[in-house]
Amino acid sequence: MATVTCIRNLDWLIAWDAGAGEHRYLRDADLAFAGDTILHVGGRYDGEVAEEIDGRALMAMPGLVNVHSHPTNQALYKGVREELGNPHLYGTGLYDYITLFISDTAGKLAAAEYTYAEMLTSGITTFADLTIPFDGWLDLLARSGLRACAAPMFRSASWKVVDGRTLDYQWDEAAGHRRFEAAVETVEAAEADPCGRLFGMISPAQIDTVEAGLMRESHALAMAKGWPWQVHASQSVVEFYEMTGRHGKTPIQWAADLGVLGPGSSLGHAIFIDEHSWVHWPTHEDLGILAETGTAVAHCPTVFSRYGHQLEDFGRYLRAGVTMGLGTDTFPHNMIEEMRTAMILARAAAQNMRTVTTGEMFHAATVGGAEILRRDDIGRLAPGAKADLVLVDLDEPLMQPVRDPLRSLIYTAADRAIRDVYVGGEKMVENGRSIRLDIADAGRRLQDAQALIAAAVPDRDARCRSLDEVAPMSLPLG
Ligand SMILES: [Zn+2]
Repeated sequence: MATVTCIRNLDWLIAWDAGAGEHRYLRDADLAFAGDTILHVGGRYDGEVAEEIDGRALMAMPGLVNVHSHPTNQALYKGVREELGNPHLYGTGLYDYITLFISDTAGKLAAAEYTYAEMLTSGITTFADLTIPFDGWLDLLARSGLRACAAPMFRSASWKVVDGRTLDYQWDEAAGHRRFEAAVETVEAAEADPCGRLFGMISPAQIDTVEAGLMRESHALAMAKGWPWQVHASQSVVEFYEMTGRHGKTPIQWAADLGVLGPGSSLGHAIFIDEHSWVHWPTHEDLGILAETGTAVAHCPTVFSRYGHQLEDFGRYLRAGVTMGLGTDTFPHNMIEEMRTAMILARAAAQNMRTVTTGEMFHAATVGGAEILRRDDIGRLAPGAKADLVLVDLDEPLMQPVRDPLRSLIYTAADRAIRDVYVGGEKMVENGRSIRLDIADAGRRLQDAQALIAAAVPDRDARCRSLDEVAPMSLPLG
């Protein structure tokens, strides 16, 4: 057997109570693991120990599970897209800028390395990487130290915004099918990677860009293989009305008719469902469909809140019986801040602070995410689970006073209190720094890559505008 590491006398430990189906606090607890697997959680561990770590002034918690992110491009848009939305498209910035801001492979690798480091150092140990595959991606995923769900996206149509006002679709079903077949090969390659931390997800990109046959075929394959399946759906008002116009039913009702909903399926982001106050739709069935079919939601509130959009509301989805997971989507890739934002927005949307509790949100950010990724061995500290864990520094001044460490962490200290992070029993973050990834170097490469993107904007823009004209600075210069 692999040698045992024991973290002794942890001041606090967030343990998984499988019987109750919930996390709970333990005090003065030991946590032992061997290889990549947890052996013991709780009182004193009496077995033989090769390495002992002093757990005093520390809290051990499960690594966070980020179920939806696009690390290979989003960081390149920092300072550019935060306030960039199209008023003709209900304020969303989803559709206009994809063709304006194109990066080369070096830029994608810089964005990915930077983001993977940001995720690890903020306590994320598993994440879903929804991306268009490119050379070097899986190698970097394996090197990152994260437990990574590779989710190569494919679609049958691309978006085009005409005259700055209307969303148009350019269909190529044969190309969509080829991309799907390539995506399956990529998922198989991820599963076979010798690092043992990669797995995969089937991800038709968006519900409005993938034709019905490919939706069905991709879902059937995912279910046959036991892989998770996730599609962007109900993510904008434009998409909602596109689908109601195209099919006479909401995106979720169309997906239900196709037979692609059910356990193992999740939707990013299921905001504009039929009873959302913005869409004024006569049916109120979507939430019930999600709950009855066992379809989960990958909730990523931060990016949408920047457009002024929000899910109505997290607590109501939970009470309807929908499995909720959390994702960071764009930036920051910080699940602790995402939990805080998700709670604030839920309470504002519900006009009721009781709509969601900190415990419920932490459950979504750990076990809820694990369910979405079809893993019962992550998002929890329990014997037999993967040794994916985060050590929180209780001596960090912003954690004081430590009455309820999860609240101190989420509402105040965030990643500043993250000391060490282990993935599969291997230390990947030490004293707040990624051991394998160089975020400072990646940040410099990110700056260069963004400059290249900016220089190309006038050539790509139909009106030949500069980046500063497309996305004005927040303050005038000079
Ligand atoms: Zn997304």
